[in-house]
Amino acid sequence: MNKNKDQYLITRGKNTYEVVIGLEVHAQVLSNSKLFSSSPTKFGAEPNTQVSLVDAAFPGMLPVINEYCIKQAVKTGIGLKAKINHRSIFDRKNYFYADLPQGYQISQYKHPIVGEGKVVLDMPYGQIEVGIERLHLEQDAGKSIHDMDPENTLVDLNRSGVALMEIVSKPDLRSLDEVNAYVKKLRSIMRYLNTCDGNMQEGSLRADVNVSVKKKDSKKLGTRCEIKNVNSIKFMQLAIDYEANRQVDLIEEGKSIDQETRLFDTKKNMTRSMRSKEDAHDYRYFPDPDLLPLDLQDDFIAKIKAEIPELPDEKKKRFIDKFNLSPYEANIIVSDKETSEYFEQVIKNSDIKLATNWITGELFALLNEKDLEINKSPISAENLSKLMNLIKDGTISGKIAKSVFELMADGNKDPVTIVNEKGLKQQSDPKELEKLIDKVINDNPDKVKEYKSGKEKLFGFFVGQVMKVSGGKANPQLVNEILKKKLN
Ligand code: ADP
Ligand code: MG
Repeated sequence: MNKNKDQYLITRGKNTYEVVIGLEVHAQVLSNSKLFSSSPTKFGAEPNTQVSLVDAAFPGMLPVINEYCIKQAVKTGIGLKAKINHRSIFDRKNYFYADLPQGYQISQYKHPIVGEGKVVLDMPYGQIEVGIERLHLEQDAGKSIHDMDPENTLVDLNRSGVALMEIVSKPDLRSLDEVNAYVKKLRSIMRYLNTCDGNMQEGSLRADVNVSVKKKDSKKLGTRCEIKNVNSIKFMQLAIDYEANRQVDLIEEGKSIDQETRLFDTKKNMTRSMRSKEDAHDYRYFPDPDLLPLDLQDDFIAKIKAEIPELPDEKKKRFIDKFNLSPYEANIIVSDKETSEYFEQVIKNSDIKLATNWITGELFALLNEKDLEINKSPISAENLSKLMNLIKDGTISGKIAKSVFELMADGNKDPVTIVNEKGLKQQSDPKELEKLIDKVINDNPDKVKEYKSGKEKLFGFFVGQVMKVSGGKANPQLVNEILKKKLN
């Protein structure tokens, strides 16, 4: 791994500590039905309307593996450049919880479907690699609802049995920015692959965050605490921040860190102990006797491999090599699949440099302001491409283009129509421009005198005046040329 330049360091007196982070990301598999039943997985349905007898764990019900979820996990594994394990095994992880009607969770434990892999992050100080320990499949639990009834906790089993991929990183992350970049990169890869929608508001992506601290430059990792089920990047960062400082304080007081599972309180921005860390044997893992080991055939994997689309890292490289984008530009354009497709559509028929600037500048600002995803962009790729061409061929100036852009944003109008209707064409007829320039010169005899006596800065003033009388439509390059001739 690249030497991190960005370490999260905490100093107390003469001691400096380094923060070490590893994430267990739970990504909901994009699938119409659950991992072991045919119930739908749609978000936001009425409570307990998407629950089969299997999901509710009625006695004697048998789970049947959903092949599509297996494919999705393998696909994701390939996207993480990871080893696909031909044989994997589903275990029962036993524990009691009101929203877990089986009394155990079916999860892969010792033999996950995906082994070691890696994810590359682009940080301002260069690329770093984050190791992936494994990816395993497991079923989600239901949801306990504590705030609907004053006396009782209610249970919604819609989520019970939904397929999750748990993606476990190595403890390779060293700062809050790296955590942010890592989660975003995972999300981006899975969205390219269509294996998880990455929607954090809907809980499709959540993480258990493992944090430890150690003396700076010490090789040995400290004892970690695990913060369960954090559902936004912001909360992950706040939780790490609080937790790391808590641990440093304990060490400074001469105490030791107990390995434990903690919860993040989003109202108080602090973590609190939930239970001391359970060990694997506490769960009495054993292979689920209702499910055979999963044996993947070579051609099954090969077929999935053949379906893998171009992923963000490869696309980035192509955009840099082929379109001459800077790594920075390529990065922000490829991080979202739809944005990269929009970009390619625009540049099919227009200038790449210009389009890159407009997409990363004006368009991103517009989408940001209106809080829209690019597939809801009020300006289509086709129309943006037309606008680029109007600038490039000199029909309108860059400045006028900005006002055309604003008009386009109100309903995806064709820029050519806007320019014609509003008479916004750039004035590029030298005779016409000369008339305007003469007028400006005649109206400002004092300024002309000053200019001629050496105050060359005034040149900008004349250009500005000509642009003003032309209503912003004069071709600035021509104005410059003619003005120079006239004044000198
Ligand atoms: P468990 O089932 O106990 O949660 P896992 O293997 O699923 O164990 O996950 C362990 C997670 O903790 C991994 O993401 C790993 O990177 C992280 N981790 C392990 N050791 C440390 C450490 N010393 N500091 C921070 N994170 C750690
Ligand atoms: Mg875990």
